[in-house]
Amino acid sequence: MEIGISRLHFPVTTLGPGKRIGIWFQGCSIHCEGCISADTWQFNTKMVDINELKRVLKKWLPSCDGITITGGEPFDQQAALFELLTFLRPYNLSVLVYSGYSYQKLKQKKEIFEGLIDVLISEPYDYKETQTKALLGSDNQKIHLLTSLGEHTFSDYVKCIPEKKLDVQFDDNKVWMAGIPIQGMKEITKTLQQEGVDIKSTQAVIKKK
Ligand code: SF4
Repeated sequence: MEIGISRLHFPVTTLGPGKRIGIWFQGCSIHCEGCISADTWQFNTKMVDINELKRVLKKWLPSCDGITITGGEPFDQQAALFELLTFLRPYNLSVLVYSGYSYQKLKQKKEIFEGLIDVLISEPYDYKETQTKALLGSDNQKIHLLTSLGEHTFSDYVKCIPEKKLDVQFDDNKVWMAGIPIQGMKEITKTLQQEGVDIKSTQAVIKKK
């Protein structure tokens, strides 16, 4: 089976407790205005054999504290997501999954995540909302602690004040940032431009009404 993967990082320290493996799915049909990862929207690109992905993950799994799956929209690749989650479960590491779908909609896909996802963050990003909670891009999003492992590892973490920090990875001529940019990409872009850096952001356009 193939899976669209935008990128992998280890360690990611800004999307959940501890040193986590970050898995960004490629492909999203939701298209939130102002999404900071519009480069992950396109489908049928960056396809890899899921066994190859598992091989890479196996190297990191013994030294990580958990896994964060985001995107892109993981539930737009349901079969691949299910296979990945089933592969990860025996490692007994906390699995956090972000989705832009509503929890009402996700509940209908319960067989995909029941017992396989410890923490689920649902609802689409809304650039008009405030952003004051740890792990959330906008305050309308909802955190669901679905298992006792999720409860144990995340219940204190989700109450923290969001940190103004991002993980940064340099990859040829690109810079990838992981985490929630508390003041939005606009501030980061402005600061870098003031320093004379030629920057192309992956943030989606916000349509003026
Ligand atoms: S925020 Fe998430 S759900 Fe919304 S468009 Fe971006 S990747 Fe898709």
